[in-house]
Amino acid sequence: MALSKKAAGEIARKNKIDPALVEQAAAEEIAGRARRDDVLRVPFRIGVTLNRSMAHASLFFREIRDNGIFFAGKCPACGHVLFPPVRPVCRRCIKKGELVEYEPLEIGREVEGTVAAVSKLVRGTSKDLGKGVRYPCLIRADGADNAHWQFVVPVEGREIEVGARVKSVLADQADRTGEIGDFSFVLA
Ligand SMILES: [Zn+2]
Repeated sequence: MALSKKAAGEIARKNKIDPALVEQAAAEEIAGRARRDDVLRVPFRIGVTLNRSMAHASLFFREIRDNGIFFAGKCPACGHVLFPPVRPVCRRCIKKGELVEYEPLEIGREVEGTVAAVSKLVRGTSKDLGKGVRYPCLIRADGADNAHWQFVVPVEGREIEVGARVKSVLADQADRTGEIGDFSFVLA
């Protein structure tokens, strides 16, 4: 005797699955016919909701989502500016062994910057290859001491190239979720 009907019922109850489905999936086990080295499959249900923490970048994402306003992080000790503020403590000061937290620096409703590197992301099967082309680019926002990866939306007839000027575009308020997809860049 392998898996019992009672245990199958328990798996069904715990995972909110139809007991008949569990028994069917485990029929060989229940009948005791499975060889001891057969692959063992135990049904379970994936149906959970997880929350991803934006941690110290919470203010950045919340302000974009709710108010459409961009913030950078500025080190009060050395003036280093990080956009987006994806780290809690100053990158420059930490090299000297000092932990200084970035302070929020309001940029406004639009961020401008320069393309520092271009890449091309092609998605899809051979049938629709080329239809899902996107351009993740390394963008240096004006006034920032770092560059960050973000999508640049292509414009018909214009190349996205290193040195090109770009400006931010917000997703519609109703579509903003508090994540990095809430904005992208276009050629300025
Ligand atoms: Zn600093």
